[in-house]
Amino acid sequence: MTHPIMKLAPRMSRMGTETAFEVLDRARKLEAAGKKIIHLEIGEPDFNTPQNIIAAACKALQEGYTHYGPAAGLPELREEIARHVSETRNIKVTASNVVVTPGAKPIMFFAVLALIDKGDEVIYPDPGFPIYKSIVDFVGAKSVPIKLREENQFRMDVAELKNLINKKTKLLFLNSPHNPTGSVLSKEDLQQISEIVLKHRQLFVLSDEIYGRVLYDGMAHSPASFPEMQEKTIILDGFSKAYAMTGWRLGYGVMPENLASAMAQLMINSNSCTASFCQRAALEALTGPQEEVEKMVTEFKRRRDVIVLELNSIPKISCQVPHGAFYVFPNIKKTGWKSKAFADYLLDEAGVAVLSGTSFGRYGEGFVRISYANSLENIKEGLSRIRKAVEKISQ
Ligand code: PLP
Repeated sequence: MTHPIMKLAPRMSRMGTETAFEVLDRARKLEAAGKKIIHLEIGEPDFNTPQNIIAAACKALQEGYTHYGPAAGLPELREEIARHVSETRNIKVTASNVVVTPGAKPIMFFAVLALIDKGDEVIYPDPGFPIYKSIVDFVGAKSVPIKLREENQFRMDVAELKNLINKKTKLLFLNSPHNPTGSVLSKEDLQQISEIVLKHRQLFVLSDEIYGRVLYDGMAHSPASFPEMQEKTIILDGFSKAYAMTGWRLGYGVMPENLASAMAQLMINSNSCTASFCQRAALEALTGPQEEVEKMVTEFKRRRDVIVLELNSIPKISCQVPHGAFYVFPNIKKTGWKSKAFADYLLDEAGVAVLSGTSFGRYGEGFVRISYANSLENIKEGLSRIRKAVEKISQ
C-alpha cells in the first residue's frame, strides 16, 4: 500500500518475506469462517517447552533477571554455549566467539550487514530458507541461487558450487538439516565444500545448524569442524527447534572474535540485549536433562515414516525420505499443477494448509512443503484429505 507522504526507502522493495506467516493468516481466516483446517504449514514443534526450562525462567524472573544484560549475552550462557559447541563440533570455541540473539534469525541479518556490501555476491540454496536471499537483496548485494536437485537428494552439488564462485563471492549459506527438504549434507559433501571454500581467501560460510538436533540417522556435521574452517565459518544455532522454544526468541552465533564484536555492536544498535531471564532458561536447556529433546525427535521420526509412506501411495505424488528437520518436500509435477495453485487448492478445497515450494525460491516449483510438526492424528487426516483432493483433479 502506498502513502501520499510517507514514502518507503527503495531498499524495502528488495526485501522478501516468509510466506508461512501469510498462509497461516489465510488459514486462520478460513477457520474463523467455520472451516476445519489441518495445519501442515507451520515450522515450529507442536510440543511444549520442557518444564525444567520454564521453571528456570520463572526462577530467573523472581531472582531479578529483569534488567538489561550485556549486548552479546550473559557471560555464563556464552561460556556454556562455547563449551557445548566445542564438544559437539569438536573445535575450540571460547565465550568471546559467541553472540546470543533474540532468535537465531538476527545472526543471518547481522552477518550480512557486517560482512556484505554492494558488489559482493552471496550463494544460497534454492529451494531454501527465504530469508537468506531477502537480506542479501536488501543490502544491495547479488544473491546467487544454487539449485538443490531432487535427484541429488536435495544436497548441494559440489561441482555446481565451484562454478558459481568468483572473486566477488563473499558468503555461502549452508543449511543442514535443511528447510524445506529435510536433506542432510554428508561428511564427504562438507569436506569437498570446505576444500573449495579454503581456496578463496575472501569467502566465508554461514552454516545454519538450527535443525542440528532434529536428525534421524547418522550424525550432524559442521563445516567448522574441518581443518582451517573454523576461522571461515559462522555457526548459526539456537533453542527454537531443539527445545520447542520458538516464541522465547533465543538463538546464537559462533564466529571469529572480530565479527562477534561487530555483532555485539549491531545488538546495541537494535535490541540492546536478549531478554535476560530467557537466557537463564537457555542455560538450563543446555545443562539440564535432554530426554525431552530425544523424545521429540523420536516422535518426529515416527511421523516422518508415516507421512513418506502415505504420500508415496497417493497417485501422481512422490516423496523422498528426509533425514532431518520436520518437513517433507513431495514432488507434485505429475498432477500438472503449479505449486502455488496446488497449495491454494489444498487449502480452499481440502482445508489443508501446506506451503508452495516456490515460497522457498524459484527452484521449488513442482514441490510443496509439508510440515509434520503436528499430531499423527492430524497428519493422517491431512493426508487423507490430500489424497481425495488429488483424486478429484485426476479424474
Ligand atoms: N534457520 C532456518 C533454516 C529456519 O527454518 C528457521 C526458522 O524457521 C530459522 C533459522 C530461525 O530460527 P529462530 O526462530 O530461532 O529465529
